[in-house]
Amino acid sequence: MEKLDTVVVGAGVVGMAIAAKLSENQDVLLIEQNAQFGEHSSSRNSEVIHAGLYYPTDTLKAQLCVRGKALLYQHCDKYHVPYLKIGKILTAKTACEAETLHQIECQAQLNGVTDLKRVSPSHIQHYAPEIQATEALYSPSTGIIDSHQFMRSLLTKLEQSQGHYVANTQFLGAQQTQDGYIVELNCDGEPFQLHCRNLINAGGLFAQRNAMLIEDLDDSFVPELHYCRGQYFSYQGQHPFTHLVYPVPEQHGLGIHATLDLAGQLRFGPDTHFISSLNYQIDDREKNKFVHAIKQYWPALDETKLQSAYAGIRAKTTRSGTQDFTIQTSDTHGCQGLINLFGIESPGLTASLAIAEHVHSSTL
Ligand SMILES: Cc1cc2nc3c(=O)[nH]c(=O)nc-3n(C[C@H](O)[C@H](O)[C@H](O)COP(=O)(O)OP(=O)(O)OC[C@H]3O[C@@H](n4cnc5c(N)ncnc54)[C@H](O)[C@@H]3O)c2cc1C
Repeated sequence: MEKLDTVVVGAGVVGMAIAAKLSENQDVLLIEQNAQFGEHSSSRNSEVIHAGLYYPTDTLKAQLCVRGKALLYQHCDKYHVPYLKIGKILTAKTACEAETLHQIECQAQLNGVTDLKRVSPSHIQHYAPEIQATEALYSPSTGIIDSHQFMRSLLTKLEQSQGHYVANTQFLGAQQTQDGYIVELNCDGEPFQLHCRNLINAGGLFAQRNAMLIEDLDDSFVPELHYCRGQYFSYQGQHPFTHLVYPVPEQHGLGIHATLDLAGQLRFGPDTHFISSLNYQIDDREKNKFVHAIKQYWPALDETKLQSAYAGIRAKTTRSGTQDFTIQTSDTHGCQGLINLFGIESPGLTASLAIAEHVHSSTL
């Protein structure tokens, strides 16, 4: 039976970042069930490099977003991945929202984000013409990235070191041995077995299902999975936006915000909608909700130029309260060499390289 150091299940941005990092000093095999990498959450998001403003102190999100942002900008420079440090304006319209902005400012400081600027009401139009707000914060270290090129660069890094990537290969299960795992795969319709010392489950929306297929893992360590769809509408036409514009965050997401891609295309979203099955269908009936939300900060919106675009699905482990990333090592579940990643929702793209560092330190 073929033997190697590590198998990483799932070629989304997180699995790819982990595989690329581990391949610096291990034999790594990265597997993907689909024909292409990154077809799920990693290609269905806002492509925003988050600054790390909101996440509560001492959470993995706070720690790994801020560290991940720094690593990501360095990586983009090194591997020529297109990005723009475009900045974002966070807006408030009421006294209650202004209080939330103040709390975000304090939380950002605690998270080590020290570059936030208060924008005086008379300057808001300078940053964001046509935007209606009474108070605003400006985050200069927020950016946008070409996430596909980022994933390509991770694959290049993996393949330049000791790593291999195979598509059309599904993880079917694993049994623990004295020194690792026997992993069962379906490679393009053919069954295949191999042995690895470390098994990393970065399956995103399938991570819970994968974990249930690992024989010696106690199911009680597998958290719930709730699909939370977020859809986007794109804006066809000229617009005044040169920075990203966000309202204050809501319970399960960051609110219907305005983002730009690297070509300057404006889009709005994502909203939040819990669904019962994995379904990326977009719903045109949501348009009224979008129009209402956008007009709160951009009253001049021409709604005839708003067209439904695409949807992504957040891997939530809870329907209530804030959720953190869950990264379980043997310290949690007792299975040596096994790492399960659950609930890697936003800011998982930003944090991916820091998640990889975190996982690397657990496999040494
Ligand atoms: C609407 C939305 C907006 C977002 N916006 C942002 C943002 O602006 N900035 C940011 O930082 N983050 C954002 N995120 C979060 C970010 O997109 C995710 O955190 C990140 O893409 C998760 O990557 P992943 O690799 O964990 O999961 P995925 O991209 O879902 O990849 C998991 C992969 O594993 C594969 N897989 C699963 N099981 C198996 C198996 N048994 N065998 C083989 N392969 C398997 C799947 O096919 C899939 O390709 C957003 C997310 C959503 C949903």
